[in-house]
Amino acid sequence: MERYQGALCANMEKKIEQQRVISRNCFATWGVEDRFEVQHHMDNHVVYLNDHHCSCGMFQMVGYPCCHALSCIALMREEINDYVDDCFKKDAYLKVYNHGINPVSGMLDYEDSGLGVVDPPHVRIMPGRPKKVRRRDANDIRGHTMVQKCPPLCSKDAKGTTTFIPTRTPMSVDDPPSAIERLKATLPPENSKLYQQLVLRTVITFW
Ligand SMILES: [Zn+2]
Repeated sequence: MERYQGALCANMEKKIEQQRVISRNCFATWGVEDRFEVQHHMDNHVVYLNDHHCSCGMFQMVGYPCCHALSCIALMREEINDYVDDCFKKDAYLKVYNHGINPVSGMLDYEDSGLGVVDPPHVRIMPGRPKKVRRRDANDIRGHTMVQKCPPLCSKDAKGTTTFIPTRTPMSVDDPPSAIERLKATLPPENSKLYQQLVLRTVITFW
């Protein structure tokens, strides 16, 4: 690292270069003191160069200039490195790693405190079936979910209660009687208005 020539760390150079390429579409206009207005596509941003602040929020958050701030720096013909936080510079990196890491001996050389062995905490099994599916967070890509659609014979009454009619209808005499009986049990009473509507719909469907 000491032989490295750049003032900023290599990773930071790469990130700033990415922003510099985007800044080609930014057009900065000087306003008052250190304030600039930057037009970027169909949007406008305000940059406070001395405060390292941009209305897009990136400059003050990441510690190096965003594409809007870079266009202002280019307009003023100033150095980009002056607007990058010191922690991203080579000097800071060398300072952090200047001190070595002290060697540590193994467990056999530990001093006995005389307080005994500390046991791990008791695992308490919570009630209910343990979850096997991982709980997804907001960043996970959602998979396809099955949406159950009602068959065309299902209907809603005035109260909003859905009467579910199974799609499988006894179309042949080979159907076992028990299945037909089960289907009849799901139908509303024959003298009801809903039953008449169902019959009418079935006739229209199979006409
Ligand atoms: Zn910005």
